[in-house]
Amino acid sequence: MEENSNFIKTIIKEDLESGKRNKVVTRFPPEPNGYLHIGHAKSIVINFGLADEFNGQTNLRFDDTNPLKEDQEFVDSIKEDVAWLGYEWENLRYASDYFDEMYERAVLLIKKGKAFVDDLSADQIREYRGTLTEPGKESPFRNRSIDENLDLFERMRNGEFANGEKVLRAKIDMASPNINLRDPVIYRISHTSHHNTGDMWCIYPMYAFAHPLEDAIEGVTHSLCTTEFEDQRPFYNWVVAECEMENIPQQIEFGRLNLTNTVMSKRKLKQLVEENYVDGWDDPRLPTISGLRRRGFTPEAIREFVAAAGVSKGYSTVDAQMLEHFVREDLKLKVPRTMGVLKPLKVVITNYPEGEVEWLDAEINPENPEMGTRKIPFSREIYVEQDDFMENPPKKYFRLFPGNEVRLKHAYFIKCEEVIKDENGNVVELRCTYDPETKSGTGFTGRKVKGTLHWVDATHAIPAEFRLYEPLILDSDKEASEEEGEDKTFLDYMNKNSLEILQGFIEPNMKEAQAQDKFQFFRHGYFNVDPKHTTEEKLVFNRIVSLKSSFKL
Ligand code: ATP
Ligand code: MG
Ligand code: MG
Repeated sequence: MEENSNFIKTIIKEDLESGKRNKVVTRFPPEPNGYLHIGHAKSIVINFGLADEFNGQTNLRFDDTNPLKEDQEFVDSIKEDVAWLGYEWENLRYASDYFDEMYERAVLLIKKGKAFVDDLSADQIREYRGTLTEPGKESPFRNRSIDENLDLFERMRNGEFANGEKVLRAKIDMASPNINLRDPVIYRISHTSHHNTGDMWCIYPMYAFAHPLEDAIEGVTHSLCTTEFEDQRPFYNWVVAECEMENIPQQIEFGRLNLTNTVMSKRKLKQLVEENYVDGWDDPRLPTISGLRRRGFTPEAIREFVAAAGVSKGYSTVDAQMLEHFVREDLKLKVPRTMGVLKPLKVVITNYPEGEVEWLDAEINPENPEMGTRKIPFSREIYVEQDDFMENPPKKYFRLFPGNEVRLKHAYFIKCEEVIKDENGNVVELRCTYDPETKSGTGFTGRKVKGTLHWVDATHAIPAEFRLYEPLILDSDKEASEEEGEDKTFLDYMNKNSLEILQGFIEPNMKEAQAQDKFQFFRHGYFNVDPKHTTEEKLVFNRIVSLKSSFKL
């Protein structure tokens, strides 16, 4: 991570040097109510990355204090994604592991006169809370005796009251300029089964109360979170102090990461998945970690991207092209190059002997010669790209047109002699001639051509499906600009053409490709074998990125 932009690293270093801390413990605390996305990757890289750097440790902790929204599917996917990104957690924990201790700490607060049971409704509590400019009003139940509070809290726990009938609130200061300190609710009643604790509890701690306790219990030293929790920090510190926790964690906030032309909030992602706008949480167009994986992004590229985006305090919407830049960089030397025709047009080479096949040598990756060579067949019938032919080309068109000669990559020069059309006037085949003298690798210098085309041999090619993706959201920063109460939602900005499916052909040597294998297709970009739609019969390729972009780092 970049030295100067990482203020958290500076704080940790100082804490170790001054002896304030003798080790570093962090945690990544997702709520298991959805799949992880690229924003979470920032939090993961910061938490695990910093701990690693200082020989510390990081817990993966599921913040499962809200039983309604949580699910085992999400727990499993989060574990898979963190591991895939390349990180190992020291301990796997659940906030719900600490429900007993949290309850005890709440009782301690009551005994100290720092918490009370309130009968006000949720609406009344909101009304009494006041505003930024106006102090709040104390609840009429605020001065219940300690004994009465202890009794009522126990009866809350025993299930004597309905949802919403009572809450436990911290007793702090209804006139505080920080609204979070105006007697915040710390326990609520919810007669709901919990994925971890079943029906053991019918009261659940609020996140703002639970989180500092979880951190303190685990001995977390630096509790790193996003800036929307900045106003919660005084309450965080209050909880740790008043609950008399032994370990005192320090909360430090950093800016959320957002990407252009997509959405990242779990609510919106969930809506896209549940209403079938996309093909599951791992749809290759989504910014989820599982979607990026299925698209073909690598953990290395994601980590590099996050590091380059920086650990600044500010909210940042980062150009999605920057993420693409890092995956190209990562794959450039690693993956085989190959040829695939996405929109096939048949070419018959009339002067090539019928029935003959030759096997041409081709480098697997000219930028990484160690990857060796492959054999590709060449014969009388091949496919080229429909887009590489024009009957009436504009000036400076160097691809195929009647009378023009081009180079076939790794093979020969061919010249377009005749255009065959169907009854509707569509071009269905080209008749070409080849020049045996021009064979690739023989050092032919007799004449030059300007266009080099990719192709596949028609008799040996294997069919393949290609899926090309465009951004899901047309507005570059929909999430940041979306206003409450606006009559349009992000759904109005969905790109209807975000997926194009093409049926084409690939080189026969790719028959054995496996799900998640990656390739660079000549002129088309980087592709990943889709793990969901690929079958024994047919490979399906997701385009990760095209070859070039205008993006400059
Ligand atoms: P959402 O608003 O999408 O539901 P969340 O913050 O509620 O996200 P959590 O599961 O609570 O999701 O997130 C786990 C951790 O990841 C938290 O510490 C959170 O601050 C961090 N995180 C979530 N989104 C981002 C983001 N866009 N950029 C950086 N960190 C993030
Ligand atoms: Mg959260
Ligand atoms: Mg959330």
